Amino acid sequence: MRRRSKKVMCGDVAIGGDAPVTIQSMTNTDTRDINATVGQIRRLEEAGCQIIRCAVPDMEAASAIAKIKKSIRIPLVADIHFDHRLALEAIRSGADKIRINPGNMADRDHVLKIVREADVRGIPIRIGVNSGSLENDILRKYGSVTAEGLAESALRNIRTIEDMDFDNIVVSLKSPHVMLNYDAHMILADKMPYPLHIGITEAGTVERGKVKSAVGIGALLSAGIGDTVRVSLTGDPLNEVLFAKEILQAVGLREEGIELISCPTCGRCRVDLLAIVSDIDQELARLNVREHLNVAVMGCEVNGPGEARDADIGLAFGKGKAIIFKKGSILKTVAVENAKYEFIAAIKELLNGTVQHP
Ligand code: SF4
Repeated sequence: MRRRSKKVMCGDVAIGGDAPVTIQSMTNTDTRDINATVGQIRRLEEAGCQIIRCAVPDMEAASAIAKIKKSIRIPLVADIHFDHRLALEAIRSGADKIRINPGNMADRDHVLKIVREADVRGIPIRIGVNSGSLENDILRKYGSVTAEGLAESALRNIRTIEDMDFDNIVVSLKSPHVMLNYDAHMILADKMPYPLHIGITEAGTVERGKVKSAVGIGALLSAGIGDTVRVSLTGDPLNEVLFAKEILQAVGLREEGIELISCPTCGRCRVDLLAIVSDIDQELARLNVREHLNVAVMGCEVNGPGEARDADIGLAFGKGKAIIFKKGSILKTVAVENAKYEFIAAIKELLNGTVQHP
């Protein structure tokens, strides 16, 4: 069962409560370069990003938020470290949420100024605790970065903000270590009511980071924890959005787009299934399908007909022929060499009016 958290609004996007789990990402352009940043955000919007975060390392970047906001559709989060004046300028520039780590702002009055400004503007603050910036006294207490220490740091920072009469809060607790990340969330989740932004921070390159993110984020979501997700990968943030969509789909939290099932093949397979599935997958990507559609492509008659029949549309190869199934019934039997084309045509026909929305 999903953990029930307080609902917080980031612009017009709800985080927590009964809202669907949202996908966010972070730009890697220079925020001061408005054209480049807007261009990247628009690409991410198009791919399905629902909330975007931009680094704010100086005043020029904080002021740029006002211009960036005019050209994008999704809410913008300003990511601030150390200097409270950047947070104040970002809020005044129209940021929809501020991400700070109160632990790395030494002066409590500076945090109070941010909280007051956020309160006046009605925007939430994300308290972002990272294993790389844990407070020294907590590190001394536990001897190293531990799940208990991360949770304690988060709770301490939450109390700091709550003591300022502010509860428009989102919390994140991140480590690049999957199990540490998981354990810290398990300790924290029922000790506070706020929505959780989850992710495996600094997960690495696309190939390595995908696995860590799938396990780390997937495990938390499967345990009912997590209200908004950021996959953190080195490189183009477009990969973060695409992969976050796949994770949400895999755990049943996103009923949109294609779910492609294909068998691993074995000694029974008599066709080049990898080439066939790859071509079908590419064609599906070109179609940019928004509807939820289960597509199965199977190598032989052992499990093929069963899986293909279960899908919205399925293709099962057999001895010297292939069968296309649509919504559980045989649509047609086709020659092996024509199967791919016939199947793509059948998918297009299905998309042109007969897809049943869940
Ligand atoms: Fe092997 Fe057939 Fe199963 Fe594919 S569907 S893995 S070819 S038995």
